[in-house]
Amino acid sequence: MGTLIHDAAAHFIELESRHCATNYRPLPVVLQRGSGVWLWDVDGKRYIDMMSAYSAVSFGHSHPRLVAALMSQAGMLAVTSRAFHTDRLGTFLQRLCSMTGMARALPMNTGAEAVETALKAARKWGYRVKGIEDGQAQIVVCHGNFAGRTTTIVGFSSEAQYRSGFGPFAPGFVSVPYGDALALEAAITPNTAAFLVEPIQGEAGIVVPPPGYLSACREICTRHNVLLICDEVQTGLGRTGTLLASDHESVRPDGLVLGKALGGGLLPVSAFLSREDVMAVFTPGDHGSTFGGNPLACAVGEASLELLESEGLVERARLMGERLIAGLRDIRHPAILEVRGRGLLIGVELDPEVVSARQLCEMLMTRGLLTKDTHDTVIRFAPPLTITESEVDYALEIIRDGFHCVPGPHGNLGGIDTFDVSQPGRLAA
Ligand SMILES: *Cc1c(COP(=O)(O)O)cnc(C)c1O
Repeated sequence: MGTLIHDAAAHFIELESRHCATNYRPLPVVLQRGSGVWLWDVDGKRYIDMMSAYSAVSFGHSHPRLVAALMSQAGMLAVTSRAFHTDRLGTFLQRLCSMTGMARALPMNTGAEAVETALKAARKWGYRVKGIEDGQAQIVVCHGNFAGRTTTIVGFSSEAQYRSGFGPFAPGFVSVPYGDALALEAAITPNTAAFLVEPIQGEAGIVVPPPGYLSACREICTRHNVLLICDEVQTGLGRTGTLLASDHESVRPDGLVLGKALGGGLLPVSAFLSREDVMAVFTPGDHGSTFGGNPLACAVGEASLELLESEGLVERARLMGERLIAGLRDIRHPAILEVRGRGLLIGVELDPEVVSARQLCEMLMTRGLLTKDTHDTVIRFAPPLTITESEVDYALEIIRDGFHCVPGPHGNLGGIDTFDVSQPGRLAA
C-alpha cells in the first residue's frame, strides 16, 4: 500500500513536469488539502505551512468565513466587468480606504498589475500635476526590489535572472541602494515623479531597512514633490504586526499597493490606493482590467478585511512574530548567520558553506514543515497570521530538530555534541 500511495505523488509530479512550464522548482511534495495553518499531501501526511503562499494565505487555508463569503457571492453574481456598477465594489473600497487612510482605490487582480497601475498613475501625475515634460518622467526604485514579473517591472529589477532574455525594457527607472535615504535624495531630479519602495523587502530575503529610513524617505519625497509609493503587497494587511508596515514609522504614503492577502488566500485581489489628486489623473478609458473589482473578489476582499479586524490578526501577528523570532534566535546553530524580520515576516540567513536554504527546506519538509528559500541563503518563515502559540512552538520544535541534523562546519552534527540546542529531540509524530 505504501508504494501505491507513493506512486500517486510520483504520478502527479511526473504529470506536472511533463505538461507545465518549468518556471518553478517546487519542493517534491504534492498537496491536496488545507485547513488553517495545516496542509495535507496526497498520502495524507500533514505539514505546518510556514510560508502561506508567499504571504497570500494570511487567514489560513480555507477559512470558513471566507469560504462562506466566496460561496454565497459566487451563487449570486461573480463577474460583471466594470462596464456596470455592482453592489459590492463601493462597500469593499469604502472599507479598504477607511482602514488604510487613503482617499481612493483602483482595484486590480495580481500584485504586478497593481504595481503597474501605480507606475501609470505616478507618470501621469508627474506630467499633469507636477509639470514634468512629456516622456521624461523618472521613477526611483531600490536595488533588491521585487514588484512582480511584467516586462516593465523586471526591467527595473536588480536580479539578473529576472531580466535575462526578456529585454528590451521600459526606460525611466533609476535604482538606488535600499536603506539609504541619502542615495534617494541624490537620485531625485526635477523629472522624478515617484519613489517606489517596499517598507521591508520580501523577496530580496526579508531585508529590514535601518530605523528611520522610511520616515526620512517621506520627508525627502515631500520636500521634492515626489510621490512616495509603498509596495505593501507582501508587508501589508497585518503581516509585520501593524496594519501596514509603513505604520511602524507612522509614514503615510501618497500611493499604496496591496495584494496577496487581500484575496483571503482564495482569489487574486489587489489594489492601488492613493491620495485624491493622484487618482484624479485617471479618466474613463485610461486604464482597466476585465476582472479588476469583480463582485466575487470584492466580497472575499471585504470579508478578509473584516476578519483581520474581528480576529485581531494584526496584534496576533505581532505577538506570534515575537515568539517565533525569539525561538529562532534561541537555536544558535553555526549555520545561522542572522534572524531578522518583523511580525510574521521572518528570514533566517544561512551560511551556505554549512547548509543551503534549499537543503534545509527539504529537511524541514520531511519533518512536516513547509517553507521556501529565497536567494539560496535565506529561509523564510511567514505562516498564516492565524497561527496559535502552540502551533508556533510546534514549528519551532521541527526547525530545532532540522538544525540539529545539519552538520556543523567541521562535519560534526549540530545539536549532538557541539552546539547548544535548547530543547532537543522532543519531536511529535
Ligand atoms: C508578490 C509581490 C508582488 C507581485 O505580486 P503578484 O501577485 O505575484 O503579481 C509585488 N510586490 C511585492 C512586494 C510582492 O511581494
